[in-house]
Formats: sequence, C-alpha cells, structure tokens
Amino acid sequence: MAKLKSLMSCAANRLQQASGLDQTEARIEIRALMQHSLGGVNHAWLIAHGDDTVTDALRVRFESLLARRIQGEPVAHILGRREFYGRDFAVTPDTLIPRPDTEILVETALDRIPPDQACEILDMGTGTGAIGITLALERPHAQVTILDYSEAALAIARENARQLSAHNVAALHSDWFSAVQGQRFDLIVSNPPYVEADDPHLQQGDLRFEPITALASGTDGLDDIRRIVAHAPMHLKPSGWLIIEHGYNQGEAVRSIFSGHYFANVHTVQDLAGHDRVTLGQLT
Ligand code: GLN
Repeated sequence: MAKLKSLMSCAANRLQQASGLDQTEARIEIRALMQHSLGGVNHAWLIAHGDDTVTDALRVRFESLLARRIQGEPVAHILGRREFYGRDFAVTPDTLIPRPDTEILVETALDRIPPDQACEILDMGTGTGAIGITLALERPHAQVTILDYSEAALAIARENARQLSAHNVAALHSDWFSAVQGQRFDLIVSNPPYVEADDPHLQQGDLRFEPITALASGTDGLDDIRRIVAHAPMHLKPSGWLIIEHGYNQGEAVRSIFSGHYFANVHTVQDLAGHDRVTLGQLT
C-alpha cells in the first residue's frame, strides 16, 4: 500500500508529463487535488500525514480528479473555486477564472477609494464577482454595483457575495451600461474580454474551458474596451476614475482610446511580471 507522499510525487510526475506544467506548478496542483480529495484538509495536515497509507476509497477519488486534470480541465473547475485576494470564490465554466494579475486592478482601485467615506463603484462584466466583491469587502462604506450580460455568471457572483457576506453589493443583469442608465459612479472598474479573436492562446490551457464571451473581443481584442471607454463619461461623477484591465501589448492602444474620450491623468500600471496590465484615467 502506497504512502500519501509517494502517491503525490508520482501523480505530480504524471501530470507534469501530460500537461507541460513545470515541476513546481504540477506539485502545487496535485496538492490542491489531494486536499480536495481529503475533504478540504489544509497544507499542514498533508505534511503531517505524508506517511499515512492511502485507502482504496481515497485513491479512487483522487485518481478521478487527476484524470480530469490530465484531460486539461482547469483545477479551478475541478475544485469549483479559486482564491482571489485572500478569499475563496466559487467558479464554474460560466465564469472567467480569476487571475492573480487582476489583483493589480483591485489594488489600483483601492488606492482611489477612501476607506471611511461613502462612494459608489461599478464593476462591469463581473463574472465570479471577484473584483467588485473584493472592493466591497475592503471598503465597507462603498456601495458596489456588479453587472454581467451572462445570467449564469451573475448567479455565481450573487452566490459569492452571499457566501462572503458582502452586503454592500447589488448584482444586475446588464449589457454593459444598459441597466445603469442615468446613474453616475465615483469609480468604474472592469476586466472585460480583451483577447484577439484569432489569438492561438484561446485554444490552449485553461482558456479552452472558459466562456469565449469573457475572453475574446474582436480582431484587435479592443471592441469591448472601446465601448466601455466611450460610454463611461456619462456614468462617472466629475473627477471619477475609470480603471480597465487589458492585454500586456495593449497599453498604448488603450491609453489612446482613453485620451480620445475626456479622460485626463491617463496612465498604465504593470502587473507583477512587469507587463502593462491596467490603464486608468480621470474624467475631466
Ligand atoms: N488574462 C486572461 C488571459 O489572457 C484574459 C482575461 C480577459 O480577457 N479578460 O489569460
């Protein structure tokens, strides 16, 4: 009978060979799948029980998750959740999987939201709700509207807001600004679709399993960003900020879209890898 730690190191090798992940990534994913197979134990528990003998029932549970991962299914879909900014968000194939890069968007927004003052925030194309719900929890005096065109995504976002007790969040079904006509916000944030329609990455890795409507946006990937930036001035209070995530090679194009639509102080912030990732501007 195998021990837990040897089963896991074997599994990490199998996953690495099948998936092209590096060794560290494969080990981290195997750990997450094993923790899930064991009913949600933490990392410390796994280390302490590395010499335990694996039961047949555990092996069957774990092997079925590993087989799904080897077929390419994202870990976030297998576990049904992904951590974002220190909190767990439910994730399904109807939503984009929250990315660490997007934490830069959250930090850029938090820098512009007073901690102890009321303000109104809009998160467009919220998906799991990761951005809007995080802002709501970090800034309890803010009133946050989150919206999405996908009813299925919105159901997940509402469930995440409930699970995380984000009481200052309202979720609306909306085609970009359609459900907030006549409303103005202090801050608008969005991680819209921004991948070029024929980008080969859409056929690789996790992206194959995510909703294409949350990823791709026209031939240059900028269709939705152009639409958001063009309409945002009618939905911002004076001096309000618009903050948008985009691709690593889109900073210049997005800055020029902002500058063409009444925005000042337009600049781009890099992600942890040093890539252009978030552009923001203030309504003049
Ligand atoms: N950051 C994602 C990726 O390229 C795309 C997310 C998006 O289009 N909003 O993997």
